[in-house]
Amino acid sequence: MQRSVLVTGANRGIGLAVARAFAAAGDRVTATYRTTPPPGDLFAVACDVTDTGAVDRAFNAAEQRHGPVEVVVANAGITRDALLARMSDDDFTGVVDTNLTAAYRVARRAVPAMLDARRGRLVFISSSVALAGEAGQVNYAAAKAGLIGLARSLTRELAPHGITANVVAPGYTETDMTAAVDEQQRAAWCARIPVGRPAQPAEIAAAVVFVADAAYLTGAVLPVDGGAAMGH
Ligand code: NDP
Repeated sequence: MQRSVLVTGANRGIGLAVARAFAAAGDRVTATYRTTPPPGDLFAVACDVTDTGAVDRAFNAAEQRHGPVEVVVANAGITRDALLARMSDDDFTGVVDTNLTAAYRVARRAVPAMLDARRGRLVFISSSVALAGEAGQVNYAAAKAGLIGLARSLTRELAPHGITANVVAPGYTETDMTAAVDEQQRAAWCARIPVGRPAQPAEIAAAVVFVADAAYLTGAVLPVDGGAAMGH
């Protein structure tokens, strides 16, 4: 489709797979990263999504190289797990800032050009935890659930202007984020997944590309979790 696409947190894991999937489909991709650039030949731009100025600069670079951004994937995310009694204010606000407030920052920077073009795609990477909850993740689940309200409100604001806003909610996916779990935890998670195994990042990326291609899909929450959050 040859669109200008920007993906945050695209140097590894799901974000890298998403960036590669768009590039493979022929789109012009800007892969933003915080610490280290992505491997390969993606057009890479530094961007800490907790910094409004950095988000602005990354969009400037993307626009210069590839033209106005037509597809944004707000993917960057962190966890800082702790049971409620042990969770610090920093654990809570840090996770909300990176997973939720950053998505708002990125959307706010992206939307004016989309309004001018009368088309755009906003895709927010949430989690099945947003729907089902998870002990030790009140910060993360709250932030990821917040993305649903954000996307649905944007849908009401922007749908008449040709801009969609959707949420993709992955389940347990094999990336660095989940690499530290021990075998027992892994088995417990897999037991809750009807498909019986974690997702690979490319399987999440395929759903993101589908959402970005769809014109009449907006305000949706698409679970990509092997059935783990069914019924939520
Ligand atoms: P990884 O830990 O592998 O990658 C996280 C990415 O986010 C990295 O690129 C990281 O950059 C980036 N990032 C973190 N903080 C910032 C920041 N302040 N500014 C810019 N980039 C930042 O995680 P995943 O690939 O697994 O996760 C990607 C998304 O998918 C996240 O939103 C996550 O919550 C979500 N998700 C993951 C699931 C899983 O099981 N893996 C399940 C459900 C949702 P850097 O390399 O510089 O740290």
